[in-house]
Amino acid sequence: MSKWISFFEEGSSKEKELLGGKGANLAEMTNLGLPVPPGFTITTKSCMNFLEKETFFDTELKQDILKAIKKLEQITQKSFTEETNLLLVSVRSGAASSMPGMMDTILNLGLNDQRVQTFAELTNISFAYDCYSRLLQMFGDVVYGVNKDKFTHLLRNLEKRLNKTKQEFDKNEQQQLIDSYKQLFIENNVTFPQNPLDQLFEAIKAVFKSWNNQRAKVYRELHQIPHHLGTAVNIQSMVFGNSGNHSGTGVVFTRNPATGENKLFGEFLMNAQGEDVVAGIRTPEPIDSLQTILPDTYNDFVTYAEILEQHYKDMQDIEFTVENGQLFILQTRNGKRTAKAALKITLDLVAENRLTKQEALLRISPDTIDQLIHPIFDEKEVTQAKLLATGLPASPGAATGEIVFTAEKAKEYHALGKKVVLVRQETSPEDIEGMIVSEAIVTSRGGMTSHAAVVARGMGTCCITGCEALNVHEESKTILCGNTRLVEGEVISVDGSSGRLYLGEIPTIVVENDQNLQQLLTWADEHAELMVRANAETVSDLQTAIDFGASGIGLARTEHMFFGEERVLEMRRLILAEDKQEFDFALNKLLGFQQEDFYQMFKAVQDKPMVIRLLDPPMHEFLPHDTNEIKALAEQLNRYPSEVSKQIEKLQETNPMLGHRGCRLGITEPRIYQMQVKAIFNSAIRLMKEGIIVCPEIMVPLVSEKNELDTVKNFLIDTINQTFKENQVQPFPYEIGTMIELPRACIIADQLAENADFFSFGTNDLTQMTFGFSRDDIGKFINSYKEKEIMIQDPFQTLDQTGVGELIKLAVTKARQTKKEMLIGICGEVGGDPHSIPFFQKIGIDYVSCSPYRIPAARLAVAQASLSK
Ligand code: PEP
Ligand code: MG
Repeated sequence: MSKWISFFEEGSSKEKELLGGKGANLAEMTNLGLPVPPGFTITTKSCMNFLEKETFFDTELKQDILKAIKKLEQITQKSFTEETNLLLVSVRSGAASSMPGMMDTILNLGLNDQRVQTFAELTNISFAYDCYSRLLQMFGDVVYGVNKDKFTHLLRNLEKRLNKTKQEFDKNEQQQLIDSYKQLFIENNVTFPQNPLDQLFEAIKAVFKSWNNQRAKVYRELHQIPHHLGTAVNIQSMVFGNSGNHSGTGVVFTRNPATGENKLFGEFLMNAQGEDVVAGIRTPEPIDSLQTILPDTYNDFVTYAEILEQHYKDMQDIEFTVENGQLFILQTRNGKRTAKAALKITLDLVAENRLTKQEALLRISPDTIDQLIHPIFDEKEVTQAKLLATGLPASPGAATGEIVFTAEKAKEYHALGKKVVLVRQETSPEDIEGMIVSEAIVTSRGGMTSHAAVVARGMGTCCITGCEALNVHEESKTILCGNTRLVEGEVISVDGSSGRLYLGEIPTIVVENDQNLQQLLTWADEHAELMVRANAETVSDLQTAIDFGASGIGLARTEHMFFGEERVLEMRRLILAEDKQEFDFALNKLLGFQQEDFYQMFKAVQDKPMVIRLLDPPMHEFLPHDTNEIKALAEQLNRYPSEVSKQIEKLQETNPMLGHRGCRLGITEPRIYQMQVKAIFNSAIRLMKEGIIVCPEIMVPLVSEKNELDTVKNFLIDTINQTFKENQVQPFPYEIGTMIELPRACIIADQLAENADFFSFGTNDLTQMTFGFSRDDIGKFINSYKEKEIMIQDPFQTLDQTGVGELIKLAVTKARQTKKEMLIGICGEVGGDPHSIPFFQKIGIDYVSCSPYRIPAARLAVAQASLSK
């Protein structure tokens, strides 16, 4: 191996980063003794050196390439530059992570006007010229950027004029085609190099450069592949699938990539090169028919496929070529597959004793699980659809429906049996009923922790937030998106997993929640160290959470229990109350609602723990702002609209997120928190009388100062004692803890731990307050930050370990200094993020809590975190 080049027999599959996936696998297959045409790999490091400084090619790399070509000539006993015994090569890119279709390939390199003649003598005219014209086309496209279609166009014209297909061309006609291709080069102010070495050098440079082409960059962005890795280049001696009727080429998966069935799946074309299979000009035949056409070759293939699967312990996607009856394996890689197939294949491999359960758990990506429990778009259809805009992938799943702009319209259309997508600038508590009946929710504003995002995730409804390209005019019921104008009733499709919004209907695929998933998650639980709880408050969400395997409820947000028309009205009455009597009236009504809610909730979770958080948001969030709604509310409260309007205005805050919310509200107006704990304990006592013992866990939000916690806790305890007394029951155990969601709370965590029974990190607010990024406005800039590589991740989606993570770590350490065994959880949205979970495990968190639909993926991620320690 030279500094920049590795021959296939010198490498191994462990060197993916340096040799790229393709190069590493070619090396591995060569060493397994498979029939791989000889060749070498130019390393990814060379690519990055070249991209940094192009002179690197001439000063360092060229010499090594020349030496490698000499060696290849010796191995193959052929010549790359002489006129006889021709060696032709392929040049293929190959990055460390598979980037299908992103980089480029050139075949048949080494042919020129002269050598094609010799080649024709060795083989046949039609074959030799076919190879040459392919080289011109690929070279023109990859190296000089002359669109492939222009070549195809010339070919079609000639076929039409001569009234025959390319296969039927005689020598002169083949030459005409070559001449027209060369003319196309000239029209584009370039010439096709006749010297094979020049061809090779230009091709290598072009593949290097293709690392930075637009589609490669976009693909990397999309799949979070770092830009600094570079691509390797594989130079391999050509074998010819287009050299006659005992030749061919194909692509085969060792198992069915759609269903996972353990049976070869794929196709081949006789007398063809790989490009023909991809281009779809001729219809390939199913792999099974190779058994009849070339039985020995087929049997060899089956043997090699088995060796490869056994070796890689995974389903393989294999490219092969047959040259005059001799089989060559050109490439193998772990095959792409659907989520359903991924699960079946992995479990089958365990059953076949090829994988251990632990390996199986590490094999499935938690993201795959999202596809198993939510519908996804049919991939083929998506490529045809018109992309309207991209926002934040707030809640996974895929859905299609008619646009509606208000919750009322959503309900109305739903009642008519229509499927709707609720599109708003942002959602608010009043929209809840419309959100429930919608197939999907899209907001032009808001981040990953905005109201729409949190509620949609809770319900398992797909959702895009922060879709800034949409100008949503709720009053005129139109959306402007670039030049496209959308109106109510128009059909759009929402992909909540990618954040992409499309025009028109796209068919979805639903994967049944099968036994295989249950099996995998059962194994996952055996290895889990962190527990997984759920963020949920409605009985149906609690039930979903438990069905998905939650070990308890980490966060029941009580403000979500005031959504819905009837409750919001009482909340509004309370906030706008003119006297104590009206306040008490509303408070009493709310007590009734809450009591019944808590009773049902405790009953639903049974013996599992449930943390109930006291009211958090600022009061004006419950109030209407639209003139008509204010009018309607005034009517309900028997007031003048102007009066109500003035009161609402008075409650407005300049910075509500930093304002009168959380425990601050509890301190200035204790009666709401007192009502809430009274409701909690009244229902707990009712259950106790029915023989069900519960241990209420009450959580105080947004604490930044120990005195805040002490003050709230004191009056809560008074109310709880009073409730025991009123009910004439003996006090039973309960816990009062606090959320840690402000940087100051992290710093004084040791003090807070003195008077808190447990902690739960509210990473939504903690991220907001640490960065100073408004959680509802991050959609305005996060995509641009990502594009400019200022930030790789949205910190509301994946924990910022360097900043926010350090604060959490500090708080955990301090808390445990005060109370060694204190139970500490995470209930912000990153708690359900598989990429953040290993960090939480490392710093000693006890549980993560997330929306119900994220629980299965979190259970797997938790097991993976334990297994990869
Ligand atoms: C948080 O801040 O992380 C949290 C869970 O609370 P909320 O999202 O309700 O503010
Ligand atoms: Mg919070």
